[in-house]
Amino acid sequence: MMNAPLQDHVPITPTQNVSAALHGWRAKCLQRLIRLDIPVPPTVALPIATVRAIAQGQPIDCARILSRFGPEPLVSVRPSPQGTDWGGPATLLNIGMNAARHASLVRSHGQKAADRLYLRFVQSYAIHVARLDPDAFDGTDLAEALRAYHDQTDEPFPEDPARQLTEVTRSMSRAWEGTSARLLRHAKGAPDDAGLGLLVQQMAQGMGQGLSGSGVIQFVDGATGRPQITGRFRSQSQGGIALAEDAALYITRDARGPSLEELAPDIFADLIRHGARCRTHLREEMQIEFTIENGHLSVLDAIRVQRSSRAGVRIAVALAEDGVIPRQEAVLRIKPRDLSEVMHPQVDPRAARDRIVKGIAASPGAAVGRIAFTSVAAQTFAARGEPCILVRRETTPEDIRGMHSAAGVLTERGGVTSHAAVIARGLGVPCVVGAGDLRLDLRDRALTLPDGRVLHEGDILTLDGSTGEALAGAVEMLSPSLDDNFRTLLDWADQSRDIGIRANADTPTDAELARRFDAEGIGLCRTEHMFFEEDRLTVMREMIFADTSTDRAAVLARLLPMQREDFIRLFTIMAGKPVCIRLLDPPLHEFLPQTREGLRALAEALDRPLSDVTRRAEALAEFNPMLGMRGVRLGIAWPEIYEMQARAIFEATLDCARRGIRVVPEIMVPLISARREVELVRARIDAIASAVRMQSGADFDYRLGAMVETPRAALRAGDLAVNAAFLSFGTNDLTQMTYGLSRDDAGRFMGAYIQSRVFPEDPFHVLDTEGVGELLLIGAERGRRSRPDLIVSLCGEHGGDPDSIAFCRKAGFNYISCSPFRVPLARLAAAHLALSERVTPVGERDWITGEMRRPMADG
Ligand code: PEP
Ligand code: MG
Repeated sequence: MMNAPLQDHVPITPTQNVSAALHGWRAKCLQRLIRLDIPVPPTVALPIATVRAIAQGQPIDCARILSRFGPEPLVSVRPSPQGTDWGGPATLLNIGMNAARHASLVRSHGQKAADRLYLRFVQSYAIHVARLDPDAFDGTDLAEALRAYHDQTDEPFPEDPARQLTEVTRSMSRAWEGTSARLLRHAKGAPDDAGLGLLVQQMAQGMGQGLSGSGVIQFVDGATGRPQITGRFRSQSQGGIALAEDAALYITRDARGPSLEELAPDIFADLIRHGARCRTHLREEMQIEFTIENGHLSVLDAIRVQRSSRAGVRIAVALAEDGVIPRQEAVLRIKPRDLSEVMHPQVDPRAARDRIVKGIAASPGAAVGRIAFTSVAAQTFAARGEPCILVRRETTPEDIRGMHSAAGVLTERGGVTSHAAVIARGLGVPCVVGAGDLRLDLRDRALTLPDGRVLHEGDILTLDGSTGEALAGAVEMLSPSLDDNFRTLLDWADQSRDIGIRANADTPTDAELARRFDAEGIGLCRTEHMFFEEDRLTVMREMIFADTSTDRAAVLARLLPMQREDFIRLFTIMAGKPVCIRLLDPPLHEFLPQTREGLRALAEALDRPLSDVTRRAEALAEFNPMLGMRGVRLGIAWPEIYEMQARAIFEATLDCARRGIRVVPEIMVPLISARREVELVRARIDAIASAVRMQSGADFDYRLGAMVETPRAALRAGDLAVNAAFLSFGTNDLTQMTYGLSRDDAGRFMGAYIQSRVFPEDPFHVLDTEGVGELLLIGAERGRRSRPDLIVSLCGEHGGDPDSIAFCRKAGFNYISCSPFRVPLARLAAAHLALSERVTPVGERDWITGEMRRPMADG
């Protein structure tokens, strides 16, 4: 590309060698329109290499370029960047306008129109090319604008069209090299050396005696993707800006006024025909920019229709179903991250936003509701049928029911793997955490905002979990669509993907979601949530207060039927798909009440003195509960808990078998760090399995596995695999333990850390492939060396992140497991990974220019 001889310009004709790489995508797109017999005005392309040379001060022969447009040239200059989404400087119209041209326009089109046209050119030239103060040209008439130009530059407005074109091309080429333009296009995925071509195009006037004007038309609705003709047309106008007083016309027939469809049915039919040809040949829904001059239609440009993610899915599926593009390409056209917009209600992007605070976007989607400061308040609102936003300093397991009742959760503290964030993602509830600028006064039930405003319980706010913002009042929403198009696209994605996707699901509701989103099974069922329901919490607390192992077993026997019922429901919903159940993980004190009233209520329930209960709670408290008696340590110290859980799982398995549902349960032991831990738990669970087999006279299979959540477990994975059929990496804890970074407190400084580039991203959100990732590689490799058929998976929050999925896939993991709402995104991301590796060029072809391009950045 860099070695091509410097060529001033090339006329765009059907046969000329024009490419997006050399001339930018718009040049190639216009050539494709010309080849489709769409009436594009004469256009020449200034190659990217030429524009680079212009930016460096090399002159080009603008007079020669303009000679292609007749004796009185009037042209526009449009940007033509290499990539369709990379922006570029604004188009400039009417280059060639000067006193002589103005005089002839006065004769042909009248004084007013000629003045407006000239004025518009002087204004845009002065502001965008000569870079003069815009205020000096605001609201001026032609004479004033010409004078202002003279005053500010000490020279008259340039009359020579070649000089004008020289200045315009120089200014546009330099604008492209400027820092802000670079930053903007970097954000859109453009490489450092992204190039800009320019197009010089004959002006189509848009004014005249017959029907004249300018407009845009498109054939699908940008918000929904449904076929629908929309657009705008204004007679006697250029680029949509009026040159006379004529009003706008409707595009299609409309009871409110005249339309282009009625006034010019032939032109309207031509536009529809051009749109249809663009769709099939450019393989995309395009918006067409057009001008009509005395009844003669010109198509100036065609761009990809701007669309919501939801519309994007519908459009891609429709193109594939109509045979315009292959299904795989439809899959590749939708970015995985765009799906979260489809999965949840969203704040309407057209709505006004009064931002009251910004925190960390922890669970996508948006919700409007009344502020509730406690779980009880949230449940009260829910009981009245009023949506509410639970606002807490941070959430604890006691808030679960409040979170269930809330439409959204906002916390002052916490990071992306804090309790609030994990639970909210699991529930599919929008959540913002770490909004540290809030001041929460729980006594007065008031929330003081950074700007001094005070909100009270019951006041309405809108939470945008996709951007991490809370907004004042009730903002307009777009509702989620899990429509047929969405399902079709994901079915196509599944046909291409080669890593399994399961869901983290703790409750029947989660499991139903997992099924609805076609997860291949449950990869992590956290059983602790099952013990937070009112009736069970009391029994759990009794168990914690039991003095002997026998007493504990007796209390646990009361939990057994409830737990069995939990598993029967999960297995039934999953209908034979694999279900991986994690035995109890959290430290026991989490089950005790945290407040004085709660302790008193417990004392009453247990019929014990308050001091007893308080002492017990204090005895259970740990300095570092995350590193204390939790996970397998609990299972070994108080084995009755795991025994009860294993029995419940096996009895549920047998119950399902009797009803024709064959289940091979997977039992997973959390927080392992030593071989002996797995050995001990396995011996006890095997014994329970034998006992259940004996008692029932029926047989069943099960698999035992270990969670790899400590660095030691990863390093000693070979040891663990001796007793484990599978290893599942719990990357939330593994990240915490590898960095020595608290999951629950990292939010406080994470922003500063990312800003100072200590971390490229929050490692609880995007897998740290260098450090934690190395442990994953070591663990998978050592585990498999010890047991070649070992199943390896990841079930931390990273499971829903496309980059982390890419890492696991490359490392040969069997599956990843993520919260149900992220399953569709993960399915799509996994398909992208597999498809972009295939040798077939599908998906790497730019659908507008038809040329091959670099692999897609997103997945
Ligand atoms: C983990 O640590 O990654 C995990 C999945 O378990 P939890 O988040 O429940 O600690
Ligand atoms: Mg964990």
